[in-house]
Amino acid sequence: MADTYDVVIIGGGPGGYNCAIRAGQLGLKTAIIEMRKTLGGTCLNVGCIPSKALLHASELYEMANSEFAGMGIGTGKITLNLEKMMEQKADAVTGLTKGVAGLMKKNKVDHFHGKGRIAGKGKVVVALEDGSEKTLETKNIVIATGSEVTPLPGVEIDEKQIVSSTGALELESVPEKLILIGAGVIGLELGSVWRRLGSQVTVVEYLDRVLPTMDGEISKQAKRLFEKQGMIFKLSRKVTGVEKDGKALKVTTEAASGGEEEVLDADVVLVCIGRRPYTDGLGLETVGIEPDKRGFIPNEHFKTSADGVWVIGDTTHGPMLAHKAEDDGTACAELIAGKAGHVNYLATPSVVYTRPEIASVGYTEEQLKEMGREYKTGKFPFMANSRARTNHDTDGFVKILADAKTDEILGGHIMGPHAGEMIGEIALAMEFRAASEDIARTSHAHPTLSEAIRQAAMGVEGWTMQM
Ligand SMILES: Cc1cc2nc3c(=O)[nH]c(=O)nc-3n(C[C@H](O)[C@H](O)[C@H](O)COP(=O)(O)OP(=O)(O)OC[C@H]3O[C@@H](n4cnc5c(N)ncnc54)[C@H](O)[C@@H]3O)c2cc1C
Repeated sequence: MADTYDVVIIGGGPGGYNCAIRAGQLGLKTAIIEMRKTLGGTCLNVGCIPSKALLHASELYEMANSEFAGMGIGTGKITLNLEKMMEQKADAVTGLTKGVAGLMKKNKVDHFHGKGRIAGKGKVVVALEDGSEKTLETKNIVIATGSEVTPLPGVEIDEKQIVSSTGALELESVPEKLILIGAGVIGLELGSVWRRLGSQVTVVEYLDRVLPTMDGEISKQAKRLFEKQGMIFKLSRKVTGVEKDGKALKVTTEAASGGEEEVLDADVVLVCIGRRPYTDGLGLETVGIEPDKRGFIPNEHFKTSADGVWVIGDTTHGPMLAHKAEDDGTACAELIAGKAGHVNYLATPSVVYTRPEIASVGYTEEQLKEMGREYKTGKFPFMANSRARTNHDTDGFVKILADAKTDEILGGHIMGPHAGEMIGEIALAMEFRAASEDIARTSHAHPTLSEAIRQAAMGVEGWTMQM
């Protein structure tokens, strides 16, 4: 007899495990299948968490070297123990993945370790580690299989010299010369880590700007600040091949439009041109689901074209972010339980955990212009914020975009200290469909960085006071 469930979730990342928790809370008999040894998906194992552990440690290392003395803090010679730094990263990952396993137990979710595949309506087969198979019968299947690194044709990743983000989190020594292919979020974060630890970092980007999905003004200033930190950018250029010569790598580039060849030397090349949905061997054909041209599974309120099959997270449309996957998972479980479930992607913030941090929610100015929407702008630089000045951390600004007639907040963009924490205020305001005046008239504690948000909101109507 096959085990029977209300919900079987394939994939134990932030989408899958949050869906499982919510389904368990709502009294649905739930199973989760994960082929990795630990739950937590890309995010906890090889994504958000290990990258943030290295970003945090490397930022402190750089500050200790270059900023402590100016604040009157004397230190001996600062040294790098890379092995120890990797160990504290592994500790963070282990603690959190164990925590997720605990949450499955607490919410009475059965956890199967193995690769799951759909085998027709209401049936999922798990290929277990010992080579045997287990069949689960279920009313609902949730696809939460996430994403994988997009490969670059002609460049073979070996995770030692030519690495993806996964290999870049595990390097055994600091490369002298690191070349990033792609100037997106993941590249700039991992590039920052290794630059802080001593690498010379060169970024080759096909487009003519860094962080292409961010507000134009932010990406312009980000490039300037990263250059000041020592990163070298080769924009509007493409990599046409990487050749190995023993321990050295020769990276051939040319102009995006063709010609103007340039060969760059590197010890390590990081391929970070994006991620693509992962649905290998999932048995989609057994229920008639066809991914779109880019591999994403289409959905309407998380329902796929197949009866009783749902999809969430990186495998479907919307921002490829952990908290988006988490929100999808929660809403999907609620819909399965017959409740209302909805996610507003416009109010999903996205953060680049560099220094300065960069955070964004809602529309960019470029998007509003393209839509022909009339808007007003309020801006405030951290140079004029008392807390930022006190902390000697003044790079960046806050920008609020609001509808020209109704004053509804349409977007918020922050570059500066703790931007990732502060963007929550603007996301919440957007969820409530607040006006910029609502933020402008809300008391913000002094002296705090968040006063810059209030001042930017005041700026929408031209009454910024502290500048
Ligand atoms: C280096 C890096 C840094 C990142 N940093 C951030 C960040 O700071 N903030 C942020 O929001 N996002 C970040 N992301 C993106 C984030 O990790 C993803 O958006 C998020 O993990 C997506 O969640 P998911 O549940 O959809 O899929 P995943 O986390 O990819 O989980 C899917 C899981 O399904 C499993 N699986 C796949 N197929 C099967 C199968 N057939 N059977 C069983 N199991 C299967 C996989 O092993 C995987 O564990 C980062 C990503 C990377 C690579």
